[in-house]
Amino acid sequence: MAYVISDECVSCGACAAECPVSAISEGDGKYVIDADACVECGACAGVCPVGAPSAE
Ligand code: SF4
Ligand code: SF4
Repeated sequence: MAYVISDECVSCGACAAECPVSAISEGDGKYVIDADACVECGACAGVCPVGAPSAE
C-alpha cells in the first residue's frame, strides 16, 4: 500500500523534495501523496518533522 499523509502535516514541503518519484504535491491544507506513483520507499516519513506520512 502507498504511504499517506495525515492531518498532522504542517505543509513544510520537506517530503516533496525527498520523494524519488515526485509523488508528493501540495494539497488543500496539507501535502498529499499520489498512491499510484508512490513506491513505498519511506523517504517522506524519514524527513517529516511531525511524523505525518505513514504506510497504510
Ligand atoms: Fe515518495 Fe517514497 Fe514517500 Fe512514496 S514513500 S511518497 S515514493 S518518498
Ligand atoms: Fe507535511 Fe511532513 Fe511533508 Fe512537511 S514533511 S509537508 S509536515 S508530510
